[in-house]
Amino acid sequence: MKTDYDVIIAGGGMAGLITASAIGYYSKKGARVLVVDRNPPEEAGKKTNNGWTCGDATSLNSLRFLEKNIGIKYGTPELEHPVKGVLVYSPDHKTKVRFEGEGYILNRKVLPQRQVADARGFGVEFKFNLSAERLISENGYVTGITGRADDGGAFKATAKVVIDATGSSSVLRKFLPIQSYIEKEINMDDIEATGRYIMDFDLGKEDETYFTPDYCLIHLDQYIAPAGYAWVFPKGKTRVNIGLGVSKSGLSRRNKKFKTADNLQSLIDKYVKDNPTIKNPRLSAGPEYDGNSKGNWQVPVRRHNDCMVANGFAVVGDAAWLPRPLDAGGIGPSMYASVILGKVVARALEANDYSQEALWGYNVEYMTTHGYQMASFEVLRRYLQTLTNEQINYGMKHFLSEQDVRAISERRHPDFNRVQMVNPILLLRALSEYELAKGLRYTAKKSQTLVQHNLAYPVSPKGFADWQKTLLREIGETTEKFKPIEVAG
Ligand SMILES: Cc1cc2nc3c(=O)[nH]c(=O)nc-3n(C[C@H](O)[C@H](O)[C@H](O)COP(=O)(O)OP(=O)(O)OC[C@H]3O[C@@H](n4cnc5c(N)ncnc54)[C@H](O)[C@@H]3O)c2cc1C
Repeated sequence: MKTDYDVIIAGGGMAGLITASAIGYYSKKGARVLVVDRNPPEEAGKKTNNGWTCGDATSLNSLRFLEKNIGIKYGTPELEHPVKGVLVYSPDHKTKVRFEGEGYILNRKVLPQRQVADARGFGVEFKFNLSAERLISENGYVTGITGRADDGGAFKATAKVVIDATGSSSVLRKFLPIQSYIEKEINMDDIEATGRYIMDFDLGKEDETYFTPDYCLIHLDQYIAPAGYAWVFPKGKTRVNIGLGVSKSGLSRRNKKFKTADNLQSLIDKYVKDNPTIKNPRLSAGPEYDGNSKGNWQVPVRRHNDCMVANGFAVVGDAAWLPRPLDAGGIGPSMYASVILGKVVARALEANDYSQEALWGYNVEYMTTHGYQMASFEVLRRYLQTLTNEQINYGMKHFLSEQDVRAISERRHPDFNRVQMVNPILLLRALSEYELAKGLRYTAKKSQTLVQHNLAYPVSPKGFADWQKTLLREIGETTEKFKPIEVAG
């Protein structure tokens, strides 16, 4: 079959640009790869009209993964500020949990320029100012895309493989025109509404629970960030990425309970105003910040799509719901998945086979190396969203062990071993603490089942339907159990 390109990647953001470089890196014969992005070249990777909206934090581990596998190492100015780890504070600020692990706060506006240059270095072509609109198909295979240029011109091109990397609002996956195991729709409760500012400020009252240049701070608080969390990520000694994410239904329950009428923006503004260390905040300005200092967007926070490939097609990044359900971190997962996908696509091109079966290795390798914990984190997230601030205060103080902290740092589900040891009779003194211990114990047990199940991901499409049936039964049970019946607060 003669096609315009070997591969078309729709969406030139974090996932699309790394996938493009990875295909270039792994293709021995040199693949003809086209990246289509709706932005002008100087604004590559911009997520929405209001910028490259992100918390900008990523781990050194994921950056090292890129370097080790495809030889790409970022530097200045895209790695904007180093951090030593993450500190998570309980709602009463009395308990601090430290997750050690170096990382960086990226400059997401600058980074795509570097990523485009990397991809061009591998011979990748670009078409900017072009929105992908629909997939085209033939004989049960995706065979290309249609789109529209900013000047109104229609676009159509064919490829052996099309990759959807258009982010969380993907229309390609949603209107996938062929039979496949890829889920097309996401439940609205699995989407977090998030927003943030990038600001310069004067130092006010010194208080490390509100700002430190060395650590990313996360504040758990069902009043400030219902069913989500708020963050203060340092971009320098007096520059910050500050924002929060909420679940829409969590916010409406919270508003109902407290008879308030807050929305995402009013919550963010209050959060900034109530920070005693951040005084006289103003939007960061200059070429590296203009157009990116204030923005709201959405993040998927469920497990990744149970299947990410079809005949001639794959999804990656937020379009594949890759962000970690617990902290909405999607940069690391995008890096891991994009490299794996690049390798699998390069192999498929060499073998001249673009079937679901030929691309299946992407599902298997991502799941068994990085994705296998995500379903457990989805369950834990759902449970945490039902807790009150008092329960979070108590749980963080009494139930979280060093071992749990280490597990979470290593992206594993904690086993809450302290809860396992607590005598339920003692806990009966306080019903809500007993319920809390019971809930945590349940998530830990469920996590073991889900991890085992995911590590046994079917090696070919043949076993998928049965595998998914079991997964959905396990997940369905927890969704039912952790329905927020009560208003959190
Ligand atoms: C407020 C917020 C805070 C976050 N904080 C963090 C954090 O601190 N750490 C972390 O790891 N993750 C964080 N995330 C998640 C992270 O930003 C995403 O997981 C990551 O950007 C996903 O990359 P992507 O390439 O899949 O999608 P995107 O970055 O959204 O890129 C998609 C690209 O495709 C383009 N596009 C979209 N539709 C089309 C179309 N039809 N045709 C052509 N082009 C199109 C877009 O314009 C964009 O260039 C956060 C997300 C948000 C919203």
